[in-house]
Amino acid sequence: MKFATKAVHAGVVPDPTTGAIMTPIYQTSTYVQDSPGKHKGYEYARTQNPTRDALQASLAALENGKYALCFASGMAAIDTVMKTLNPNDEVIATNDLYGGTYRLFVRVFEKFGIKFRFVPMQNAPELAKHFTPQTKLLWIETPTNPLLNIIDIEHVSQIAHAHGAKVVVDNTFASPYLQNPLNLGADLVMHSVTKYIAGHSDVVMGALVTNDEEWAGQLKFLQNAAGAVPAPMDCFLVLRGIKTLHLRMKAHCENGEIIAQFLAAHPKVGQVWWPGFAHHPNHEIAKKQMRGFGGMISFTLKNDSVADAIRFMESLQVFSLAESLGGVESLCGHPATMTHASIPKEERQKAGLRDSLIRLSVGIEDPQDLCDDLKQALASI
Ligand SMILES: *Cc1c(COP(=O)(O)O)cnc(C)c1O
Repeated sequence: MKFATKAVHAGVVPDPTTGAIMTPIYQTSTYVQDSPGKHKGYEYARTQNPTRDALQASLAALENGKYALCFASGMAAIDTVMKTLNPNDEVIATNDLYGGTYRLFVRVFEKFGIKFRFVPMQNAPELAKHFTPQTKLLWIETPTNPLLNIIDIEHVSQIAHAHGAKVVVDNTFASPYLQNPLNLGADLVMHSVTKYIAGHSDVVMGALVTNDEEWAGQLKFLQNAAGAVPAPMDCFLVLRGIKTLHLRMKAHCENGEIIAQFLAAHPKVGQVWWPGFAHHPNHEIAKKQMRGFGGMISFTLKNDSVADAIRFMESLQVFSLAESLGGVESLCGHPATMTHASIPKEERQKAGLRDSLIRLSVGIEDPQDLCDDLKQALASI
């Protein structure tokens, strides 16, 4: 099945009791048993819920994986992956990482004896020297947040596998519409479903998808043992959001290109980061592994002034100043004080993340209105 058909149909079957075409919100904590241990496959809602099952099947189909698990947030999904490791295991992670992921790794899991190395991965040959016999996991984000670096998933997966390590890709920025890491050699895909997959800025959720049966079993055990599961209502909202994922992503990509070109041509704009530019250092890799370049754009002002960047953000009227991304509405964020404030300033600077950097999540509004809004906000500085 092609992507659009999967987005509309995968995982969703008419309700067996009524024929309801949409999966009901099974708002229940428990299920009645005929006799002790004799039940219909559902015992307690932390362990299984039919609305969640439908969503998990949909997500598995979209990522071309066999097993999918949903969690109460993207961070809960990441936390679950980390709990499959043991003390003294090592993780190699992208240096340009979502702030919350960095915080979870360094401030929570280092305490339990897991070691992290944060390294740039655009230059794959450099990567090999960071592996040790203790390296169990390579954790990558591509495109990275907020600098939109692209990592060659196929290449780094080969290097990791040659060293006996597994590969996790945080695919939040691309969404399964633009990129399927499992097909490029990754072992596990993680999503902040909160973003493009849910797509309407009304849910916080995470997901993991894999073809690795043993790992899926461990993760499912932890999902039930620790219990960071999403609510049935939220699963319903995400199932609804997924039905238009392909249409929304197409619009995000089209508007993203228009806005990236607009910014690049504006005299007050300095550097613009968008993987669709032919001069983007990883453009060829992006073309190879993605089906479009997405709606995330970062840029600086030509004068590099933090005060002017703040004035610009305060002047926007169609773009809303807010954390998060991937919703139908356009958002603008300031990584240094918002999404990436949990990364120490020295670490941010090492990764090339300047305090004047502005990040846009381009929505699906009319692109002319979006350009006009950026134009008036740039005129205010
Ligand atoms: C938002 C985000 C997360 C965390 O997900 P939550 O749903 O907010 O817990 C992880 N990775 C990336 C790239 C994100 O953008």
